[in-house]
Amino acid sequence: MSEFVRAAVAHGQQGAVIVESVRLKPLGPRDVLVQMKAAGICHSDMSFINGERSGASYPLVLGHEGAGVVLECGREVSSLKPGDHVIPLGIPECGVCPACVSGKTNLCDEYFRDSGSRPFLLGDQALRGFCDLGTFADAIVVREMQVAPIDRAAPLDVICCLGCAGATGLGAALFTAKVEAGASVVVFGLGGIGMNAVQGARLAGAVKIIGVDTNPLRETAARAAGVTHFVDPTQVENLLDHLRELTDGGADYSFECVGNQKVLSDAVECTRKGWGVTVMVGVLPGSQQIQLRPRAILEGRRLMGSYLGNIKTRTQLPRLVDRFMEGDLSFESLISHRIALQDINDGFAKLANGSALRTVIHFDHAAG
Ligand SMILES: [Zn+2]
Ligand SMILES: [Zn+2]
Repeated sequence: MSEFVRAAVAHGQQGAVIVESVRLKPLGPRDVLVQMKAAGICHSDMSFINGERSGASYPLVLGHEGAGVVLECGREVSSLKPGDHVIPLGIPECGVCPACVSGKTNLCDEYFRDSGSRPFLLGDQALRGFCDLGTFADAIVVREMQVAPIDRAAPLDVICCLGCAGATGLGAALFTAKVEAGASVVVFGLGGIGMNAVQGARLAGAVKIIGVDTNPLRETAARAAGVTHFVDPTQVENLLDHLRELTDGGADYSFECVGNQKVLSDAVECTRKGWGVTVMVGVLPGSQQIQLRPRAILEGRRLMGSYLGNIKTRTQLPRLVDRFMEGDLSFESLISHRIALQDINDGFAKLANGSALRTVIHFDHAAG
């Protein structure tokens, strides 16, 4: 590893990132150095440059989804060793806090503490990585508790998508809603996360999986992921009537993967009174309030939320890599583009104009 590494740095809401040469700080006792092999571009990264997110501090190294190989471990690191293949994760799993031992949530208390970590040096300025990761860099320094070791045989340039889109979507179905065999499911928004919610529902044994998206070009990949019905809301007279008809009165589960108030309301309304469960996965702009018809909830429907699908990142996520290796999951059809780090702004443009599902950045270490 050369002293300098390349990193995609956001300097503000300027519509683009700059790929800069940065240095990495020495490892702390509980840190690991991970050489990134692949990283996926997510909408949350884009929100730091397209005006959607306010209050962020810049400069910031973007990227929170990826996969790589451990190069070096701090002296107190016990669960990882150089050569391990890993997925770095936005939510830590410290293993000892009340949340980690609860069995109820993946939201480790450490996630809500400022780690103070600023491992990238741009000149003399110490920079944070988004989610304390910054996976759009040739190498990252990250806490042991934010790194999941995975099967070494797994292709890193494919399973990198598990770190955010995969965990969020699969987990929403499997660990948040806990969809059961025979269920009917509606997924609103068939981007990288929605497609994984579809896969999760299929894995759980749902018999009816209805994908709703205004982009008809998504139908083929959606069917490959597991949807049994594809609905373009602009092509039906009344979306809710149509969905209730398809589900014999209302879906057992629905997933909002768009981040839109009206879509969230539709997602709740399309579920069955008495037991319908809606999982809010999409991120509504912080300025918006959730508005629901009170009776929609009084009638026994439930609305749930989760970060990263409520999957415990170090203990449960590696099992999804195993499911992938066993052939139960596929991410290939979700990866629409593959690019080099220096072309990252093209990747953001494809995400912005809707032409990309997941764009994966490949890191060329031979050149470094
Ligand atoms: Zn993400
Ligand atoms: Zn914890």
